Amino acid sequence: MIRERFVETIISLGSSIEKERNVPEAIRLLRRHRRIEVTNVSRFFESAPVGGPPGAPDFFNAAVIARTDLSPSELREELRHIEDVLGRKRTDDKNAPRTIDLDIAYYGDLVAEFEDWRIPDPDAATTAYVAVPIADVAPDWIDPRTKKTAYDLMRLADDGGEPVRPVSAIRLASPYQSRGPEDFDPAGDVYAPQLEALVRAQLLELGENPDRQGLARTPLRVAKALDFLTNGYSTSLDDVVNDAIFDAEGADELVLVKDIEYYSMCEHHMLPFFGRAAVAYIPRGKIIGISKVARIVDLYARRLQVQERLTNQIADALMEVLEPLGVGVVIEGQHLCMMMRGVQKQDSATVTSAMRGTFKKDARTRAEFLDLAGIGRARR
Ligand code: ZN
Repeated sequence: MIRERFVETIISLGSSIEKERNVPEAIRLLRRHRRIEVTNVSRFFESAPVGGPPGAPDFFNAAVIARTDLSPSELREELRHIEDVLGRKRTDDKNAPRTIDLDIAYYGDLVAEFEDWRIPDPDAATTAYVAVPIADVAPDWIDPRTKKTAYDLMRLADDGGEPVRPVSAIRLASPYQSRGPEDFDPAGDVYAPQLEALVRAQLLELGENPDRQGLARTPLRVAKALDFLTNGYSTSLDDVVNDAIFDAEGADELVLVKDIEYYSMCEHHMLPFFGRAAVAYIPRGKIIGISKVARIVDLYARRLQVQERLTNQIADALMEVLEPLGVGVVIEGQHLCMMMRGVQKQDSATVTSAMRGTFKKDARTRAEFLDLAGIGRARR
């Protein structure tokens, strides 16, 4: 039986306190969640508060499409957790100002009633500030109760006489007041306000002027680069392997994948180290797609690392998913933190290895592997 493990969901977001910071930050936390994969984000919309206290600030609203293997209740728990991280204080007044509000609008085509909440979110079909962002990101989404599309529901939704307006690029600019108008980013470019603020502070600390032209967008770029370079934290071994394990009765010859390029960052200096890895195993009834081996290397390389731990984690991961007779991993790495400071000669590399099972017990297997790997004798 083929079962779809991941369910496509729509999560709606709302914020009226520090909304320029909290909405993008919430999206970033969703993006970095190991079991939530954000596949699309709506534009941001602004709406007047409905029935809140007099003079309450306007809201920003947005919606994301996300795939997850969490159950509805688990997903709701995780959303609550993100709300807490962003300083949400819960009150009984559903219209009170808040830092962030995260709701499951849709969970696949599930229609379900829980103790004090429902899926789909009833507001998704009736309330403009929820329906409009959903229609923006997923116009063809079919509401399982009404069988209408999100686009149709958006046209029918009640806006209480107050239109829900897309937020112009200017209004959604990064929170740093010192940026000039030419630096305003489109909505999607407000990425990680908290991290960007830290990078900006770091530039100041280094004696730089973060507002000069060349640096104006640097915090944004650094945040994006760091997120990519550390996306191993938001990926699980399960995601990577994703059922690409095959039965291979009788296969008991050494399988070797070599010259796997990797890039990582040392955890001591947050500077890159990089090189090649060779990974081998002797199967016991199960093999894995070759490309998956490289992806397992990336899974652990894209974190703050030390080379020895990286080597061990790759070996342990293969032991876990394949239960083979043995695994050997040998990695060579050049560390910029050493090279740039003159601690290490430019052409020298650090070699680490991890041996499990047969590779540990049997010197001949180990020697055969190291020979074929072409990386040279390991340091240990
Ligand atoms: Zn280092």
